[in-house]
Amino acid sequence: MNAEIIAVGSELLLGQIANTNAQYISGQLAEAGVNVYYHTSVGDNPLRLTQAIEVAQGRADLLIFTGGLGPTKDDLTKETIAKALGTGLSMDEEALESIKSYFQKTKRQMTPNNEKQALILEGSQVLKNENGMAPGMFFKKDATSYMLLPGPPSEMRPMFSKYGIPAILGTLKRKEIIYSRVLRFFGIGEAQLESELEELIDAQTNPTIAPLAGDGEVTLRLTAKHGSREVAAALLDALEEKIMNVAGDFFYGYDHDSLVEVGMRLLKEKGLTLSCAESLTGGLFQSEIASISGASTVLKGGVVCYQDEIKKKVLSIQERTLEQYSAVSEQCAKELAENVRTLFSSEIGISFTGVAGPDDHDGKKAGTVWIGLAINGRSTKAFLLNLAGGRNSNRKRTAKYGWHYLLKELS
Ligand code: ATP
Ligand code: MG
Repeated sequence: MNAEIIAVGSELLLGQIANTNAQYISGQLAEAGVNVYYHTSVGDNPLRLTQAIEVAQGRADLLIFTGGLGPTKDDLTKETIAKALGTGLSMDEEALESIKSYFQKTKRQMTPNNEKQALILEGSQVLKNENGMAPGMFFKKDATSYMLLPGPPSEMRPMFSKYGIPAILGTLKRKEIIYSRVLRFFGIGEAQLESELEELIDAQTNPTIAPLAGDGEVTLRLTAKHGSREVAAALLDALEEKIMNVAGDFFYGYDHDSLVEVGMRLLKEKGLTLSCAESLTGGLFQSEIASISGASTVLKGGVVCYQDEIKKKVLSIQERTLEQYSAVSEQCAKELAENVRTLFSSEIGISFTGVAGPDDHDGKKAGTVWIGLAINGRSTKAFLLNLAGGRNSNRKRTAKYGWHYLLKELS
C-alpha cells in the first residue's frame, strides 16, 4: 500500500504555518510499514482540491486529507470529496450527539453551522475526535482508500494514532508484524557512519537500515518484518550487534532518547553530582538539564562566567592563565572545570569556553571550543572542538558534545 497525504489549507501556501501534520502522519505510517510517496498541499479551493484528488487517485492507494473539516465556509474538504467521488453526505447521530455534548461541556453556544461537522461521507467508518468536534472518516471506494482528518494537530494526532492507524492496518490483512528500532549516534557524521556500515547497508533486506541525520546526530532506523514478534526482535538484535561492532563508540541511545536524558539517567544511577562553568553556552547546558524531572538530584548548580573578570572573581581563574593562554584554551577549560567542581563540592565539574561566532575573537577562529571535564579522583581532561555552524548551532552542539564526552568518560 502506498499513501499520499493531502494537506488542505491556504495558510500552508501563504507560509503562515508549516505542514507538521504531513510530517507526523508520515512518521506514523513509516513505523507501520506503509509507504508515503507524495505530500501535497492545496489551498481552500474546491477546483484545485478536486484536481489534487484526481492526481492522487492515479498514483496512490490511500489518500489522507487533513484540514477543512471545521464548521466555516472555507472548510470544504468533505463537500469537495463527496462531489468528486459522487458520494452522499449524511448526518451521523452519534457524531451530532458528541458535538452537542461538547458545547454543553464547554458552556458555549452551538450555532447551526456546527451541525455540518456531523455530516459523514456515506459508507465511512467514523474516527472519533476526543479532543474537538469534527469527526474523522475512513472509507474505501473502488480500489482507493480515503481518510479525512481534522487540521488542528492537537485533534489530528491522537485521532490518527488511536483510530486512524488501526483502521489502515485492518485493511491490509497483513500476516507480518513490522517491528522497528531506532539507534542514536553522536560525534560521527552521517557520511562517515554510512561508509563504516557500507557492507551492512548494501546487504540489507530484512531488517532494513534507514539512516537519518540532523542537529549533529545520526539515527539508524532498523525495521524487521516477520510473522512472529520474537523472530523480528531477534533479527533486530543480530543486526544491532553487527552495527555496534563497527560504530558502538558513537552510540548513545534508542528511539526517543536524547543525550541529556541518557546522561542524566547514568549520573543518577551512579549517584554522581554535577556542576557547570558555562562561558559560550551561557547557561544552555544547565537549562537543558533543568528541563528533565528529577534534575535536582544530579545538578548542584553552576556559573555563567561570560567575562574574564567573572572567571577570575567567581571561579578563581589565574590571571596568568588568561594572559598566557587566553580564556579559550585547554588550560582555562581545565581550571574552570576543576574550580567549579571545588566551589560546588560535586563529583563532576564541566566547563565550556569558546568562540561561538560568527566572528573570530582574540586570534581564535569562530567555532573553536574547549570543554573541560574534572571528575573526582581522575586527572582533568579537556576536549577541543572545531565547529563550523552558526552561532547558536555551535552553542547547542557544544552542549551535546559535553554529554558525549561525559558519557564516554563514565562508561
Ligand atoms: P477547525 O475546526 O479548527 O476549523 P479544520 O479541520 O477545519 O479545523 P483547518 O481549518 O484547515 O482545519 O485548520 C485549523 C488549524 O489547524 C489551522 O489554523 C492550523 O493551525 C492547523 N493546521 C491545519 N492544517 C495543518 C497542517 N497541515 N499542519 C499543521 N497544522 C495544521
Ligand atoms: Mg477550519
